[in-house]
Amino acid sequence: MLSTMMHTPLTLSHLLERAGTLFPKSEIVTRMPDKSIHRYTYADFYRRARALAEALQRAGLQPGDRVATLSWNTYAHLEAYFGIPVAGGVLHTLNLRLHPTDIAYIINHAEDRFLIVDDVLLKLYEAIKGHINVEKVIVVPLSGQPVPAGLTSYEDFLATATGDFSYPDLPEDAPLGMCYTSGTTGHPKGVVYSHRSTILHSLGSALPDVLNLAQRDVLTPVVPMFHVMAWGLPFTGVMVGCKLAMPGPHLDAVNLLDLYESEQVTKTAGVPTIWMGVLQALQKEPTRWKLLPMEMVVGGSAAPEAMIRAFDAFNLTVLHAWGMTEMSPLGTVSRVKGNLADEDADTAYARRASQGISVPLVDVRAMNENGAVPWDGTTMGELEVRGPWVAASYFKLESERDKWSADGWFRTGDVVTIDAEGYVKITDRTKDLIKSGGEWISSLDLENALMGHPAVREAAVIAVAHPRWDERPLAAIVLKEGMSVSAEELRDFLAPKVAKFWLPDAIVFVEEIPRTSTGKFLKSQLRDKFKEWSWE
Ligand code: AMP
Repeated sequence: MLSTMMHTPLTLSHLLERAGTLFPKSEIVTRMPDKSIHRYTYADFYRRARALAEALQRAGLQPGDRVATLSWNTYAHLEAYFGIPVAGGVLHTLNLRLHPTDIAYIINHAEDRFLIVDDVLLKLYEAIKGHINVEKVIVVPLSGQPVPAGLTSYEDFLATATGDFSYPDLPEDAPLGMCYTSGTTGHPKGVVYSHRSTILHSLGSALPDVLNLAQRDVLTPVVPMFHVMAWGLPFTGVMVGCKLAMPGPHLDAVNLLDLYESEQVTKTAGVPTIWMGVLQALQKEPTRWKLLPMEMVVGGSAAPEAMIRAFDAFNLTVLHAWGMTEMSPLGTVSRVKGNLADEDADTAYARRASQGISVPLVDVRAMNENGAVPWDGTTMGELEVRGPWVAASYFKLESERDKWSADGWFRTGDVVTIDAEGYVKITDRTKDLIKSGGEWISSLDLENALMGHPAVREAAVIAVAHPRWDERPLAAIVLKEGMSVSAEELRDFLAPKVAKFWLPDAIVFVEEIPRTSTGKFLKSQLRDKFKEWSWE
């Protein structure tokens, strides 16, 4: 027997049409490079995104052609997010924090045909232009400086459109966009999202028990649009029709807090580093900003429990989420289930600090040498995932097949426990695990506990080779401004919280923790720095 239902393809043109027809008055606000505010409506966005699609087609774009963007979070980047895919092109967002050599490698590997670049990032373009072969470079005039000769102004490019555009018929499996993962070793690896995966990810993300995004929200994606499609939020936000307030290049605490206040933001998202800065600014001047109750989605690295508690005092709710570039990125979200509402406050905070339960359509399991580990909250295993927005391969990279299990699950490289309620807790990356005398130590748990000390701004814990124990933990600590604490005091602080053999024998104080281009601790660099540690 066959179903009697229609099979309309899940493609992005549906979202754009819906936005243009149902929410023309919703606003899109951007903080420009000079800090002024650019403001327009979905009606403008709709017209211009379609104009970009038409202009690209007139310029010869063929289905599947890659169009790269080198841009901050702005209205123009949002136009590219929709205009490129609805024309049949593939939106390829470039991480502007990477080294120019890596950006050039990525452009060449993806075979990008067009490049859209913010005028304030032209210096970066200058650094790569001799190493790439892109047919047309389109410059978005954000700062008003003249567009260099030989390059096309984005506004002139849009003006080549006549308004006579009709969407090409795209199958739902057509490629929509691509991102390269910012691994700390080896070349970056490309992940290609489809229209279908993106639509399903948007529907899943918006759900009440996931990000709970509604039309009446005001959304600020602080996570860059060049990092895993800003966690898909531009698509999800436009799907629900909510107002968007884009920070442009201004990601510092004061500019963000000003934007939250003036635009009455209710939902925002970014990595923990950003929120550390915001928290410090709020603690310094607790009455300066009048904010609405706001939910802050935190992901990309672990959200320390101390941070979740501290924001609660400001009526700002941290929502911890976990994901990966290979997962579009959403995998798990940590909300407390209804049946757990009576747990005591400390248990509830521990739950909120875990990575949470899997979102609908994503399956999780944790594997060790004996197979899938029990959901007992203590047995560790490597997290594996499966779902319609999880990558099944990398772009042009057959050598990485072992990232997928024989039965098709994606191996995340994250080591986790899963408890009886399904809450996933990351204990480490496989490559960051510390094995001391045959026992595992979780660097993330130690970091989380250390960051609960009032004098500690940041803590990164790594494994260092040890003659007797094989490996022992070393904690690198960044202190808060004007604060001090000794290694001994920190060990005393940790002692009631962790197993005795976990206590870091070495605690060093550093100016800063080295980071990757996406703000994660660069532990390989720390390991290099401290590899000759003497354990006297
Ligand atoms: P990326 O593909 O750059 O987003 O990196 C994905 C990796 O970031 C994951 O495999 C995790 O190791 C880490 N990650 C992402 N979100 C979290 C989180 N909430 N807590 C801990 N680690 C995270």
